[in-house]
Amino acid sequence: MNSVSERLAALSPSETLAMSQKSAELKAQGVDVINLSVGEPDFFTPAHIKEAAKKAVDNNFSFYSPVPGYPELRKAICAKLKNENGLDYKPEQIVVSGGAKQSICNVVLSIVNPGDEVIIPAPYWVSYVEMVKLAEGKNVVITAGIEQNFKITPAQLEAAITPRTKALILCSPSNPSGSVYSKEELKGLADVLAKYPNIIIISDEIYEHISYIGGHQSITQFEKVRDRVVVVNGVSKAYAMTGWRIGFIAAPQWISAACNKLQSQYTSAPCSVAQKAAEAAYTGSQDCVKEMCAAFQRRRDLIVGLAEEIPGFKVNVPDGAFYIFPECSSYFGKKAPNGKEIKDVGELAMYLLEDGHVASVGGAAFGAPDCIRFSYATSEDNLKEAMRRVKKALAELK
Ligand code: PMP
Ligand code: GLU
Repeated sequence: MNSVSERLAALSPSETLAMSQKSAELKAQGVDVINLSVGEPDFFTPAHIKEAAKKAVDNNFSFYSPVPGYPELRKAICAKLKNENGLDYKPEQIVVSGGAKQSICNVVLSIVNPGDEVIIPAPYWVSYVEMVKLAEGKNVVITAGIEQNFKITPAQLEAAITPRTKALILCSPSNPSGSVYSKEELKGLADVLAKYPNIIIISDEIYEHISYIGGHQSITQFEKVRDRVVVVNGVSKAYAMTGWRIGFIAAPQWISAACNKLQSQYTSAPCSVAQKAAEAAYTGSQDCVKEMCAAFQRRRDLIVGLAEEIPGFKVNVPDGAFYIFPECSSYFGKKAPNGKEIKDVGELAMYLLEDGHVASVGGAAFGAPDCIRFSYATSEDNLKEAMRRVKKALAELK
């Protein structure tokens, strides 16, 4: 009697949020856990953004906004896309949603028919494959290991394309690897995609501003594919606004219209006050973004150095986002002090949490079962202590 739909039964819960929850539960029991699982900035939302939200409350922004978001916010997003990315979009092409997560899911549900294939380079962000499952599409995963800096090649992309390919989901800077595609690399992918005009490119650029090599590159810059790229972005990462839940798409008109229709029946527009805060984020000073990025870069340097000292870890040097994703398979098959064998990365992450009191996320959820993800969006003291604990716990595996 109490049976959920087959669609829901097939869905896995978000591993990133699940590990974070486990770490919170241990903390509530009094265990001193350092949480490097969930990826969210530890900074507070900048003051001028919070002020805009307070003003919005006082000015009675308490009614439903238009489903795709207030026109002022969509205009501000168009100005951002023009000024920062050199792209021309009209407000009708923008749909604001309850976070980039909803934005991506809206697009997937709007374009994928049952059986349609969606190409997803691995390692991938956990939610993409689940969204495709929700739409009853088929995930076609291309694997890019640490030896190719977790980036796919044009040849790999071309080999994965079939007549049923509906979309490609690209994420740069990447969660979980932190890898960033260069302009030349993106051009290589765009050259392949130019030959297949029916493929929609979903370009997840949520980490645009957390880049240590500067000059964000988007596949949208290539005219030959531009009319079928959906840019996804939002305020969560750049402005330390994960809880405000504002993301957006900039898309061809037919896709934004579809997402608008979907949203009208599903969630309506996102929170009115959060939209006013996001408008302030996009129109106000961008100094806060640069300051937070500089802090992330210092932490990146610190954690990469510490992780490289851990025997058995192969560490990539990420150019963006706030994760390291070391290869850790040399620990599989070893035994913990209590005699339990660590068979895979899920068990390794659990061991690090329970014995080392550091929360991470096993790479299996990201389609990379030999790797483990640590978020470094936390203080330098936390990072030093966390890596000390990880090193010690790993040394106890025999
Ligand atoms: N894409 C990627 C790659 C992410 O890491 C996240 C963070 N959870 C999102 C999208 C969604 O961000 P949000 O829903 O908070 O805007
Ligand atoms: N993007 C973050 C992560 O990967 C937030 C959690 C989530 O929404 O998955 O940890």
